[in-house]
Amino acid sequence: MDAPHIAPSRTALPRHAPETLEALPDAPARLWKPRRVLLTKAARDWPMAGRVAERAAKLGAEVVDLPGDRITGLAGTDARDTYRRAKSTLAVTVASEAKMRPQPIPPSADFRFDLATGCPAHCQYCYLAGSLKGPPVTRLFANLAEILDRLPPLVGEGRITSRNAARAHEGTTYEASCYTDPLAFEHLSGGLSETVAWFGARNEDMGLRFTTKFADTIGLEAAAHGGRTRARFSVNAEAVTRRFEGGTAPLAGRLAAMGRLARAGYPVGLTVAPIMPLEDWADSYDALFRDAAAALPEDADVTVELITHRFTPGSKEVLLGWYPATALEMDEAVRTVKRNKFGGRKYVYPKELMREMRDTLERQVAARLPGAQVLYWT
Ligand code: SF4
Repeated sequence: MDAPHIAPSRTALPRHAPETLEALPDAPARLWKPRRVLLTKAARDWPMAGRVAERAAKLGAEVVDLPGDRITGLAGTDARDTYRRAKSTLAVTVASEAKMRPQPIPPSADFRFDLATGCPAHCQYCYLAGSLKGPPVTRLFANLAEILDRLPPLVGEGRITSRNAARAHEGTTYEASCYTDPLAFEHLSGGLSETVAWFGARNEDMGLRFTTKFADTIGLEAAAHGGRTRARFSVNAEAVTRRFEGGTAPLAGRLAAMGRLARAGYPVGLTVAPIMPLEDWADSYDALFRDAAAALPEDADVTVELITHRFTPGSKEVLLGWYPATALEMDEAVRTVKRNKFGGRKYVYPKELMREMRDTLERQVAARLPGAQVLYWT
């Protein structure tokens, strides 16, 4: 493994001059083309399955009707081959009753719910590593109407954003991107735009939140969102996005997409994650906030979430299996260990470095995006 990226003098990444947005104002969205689409028997009863099959076939995907509801055919000749097969497969299935039950999800929202699990991108630090079992296939849930039906009974029951004086105006909040990137396959499913319009039409005080590293916003721009959805874009210093975020939309494309949605009236946000102290980190994050400000209209309603890099023994093992040659620093010796009440360990940056990064980034946000609300640092 490379020397840890814990201090500027020990980093391996070259200095990178960030592009300005003006150079790429409307970079085309990079659309995922799955090689195979698997339709389970139960999913085929839902219109979304037919829609996905038709659109994916037009993009050249092989569409397979599975005989039952078990997802099969993902095993490859070795771990690498299984990873490749799973990442290039979209399985359309049906969420079970247990999977449809919304769960509290601090600090982002009152509840999370899932339109899908898994993601076709190849981020070498992926948050999903270790939290989803089995090959990393994307499972899209076709029974969207049933999933949405589970949300209204929870209005007023939230204990996260609903109990936070600065955020209670958002209503009961629902996060759709805990176990997937819901924009990654939107050109195939249309499910996120449908969800946005569903929230937009509700009489209850409820808000949708999602975050994405993709930039295909055509459907979202047309959706009647009613100001009920906060569209956040997961961004980072340009060197991090280029080095570690395979298969995602380029940073400039994501920022341009955020600007388009803000101009379409959406509240928007920056999910800055995972923050890493790579070489020239202070200048690189400042350039990110400068470019974000340039992409946004003056009156944008924008929030910022600041999330540092961390790993667990489980996520490290999975990630090193997926990306054995990664230059991502996951060195316990240069980290501080944090334990949860069940004895689980996670490795975060040392306290002094955390404080320095937090002070710097919060100062930069205040200077570059003076109207933005910083929701949390973690
Ligand atoms: S976009 Fe998000 S979910 Fe997808 S691979 Fe990257 S970190 Fe993982």
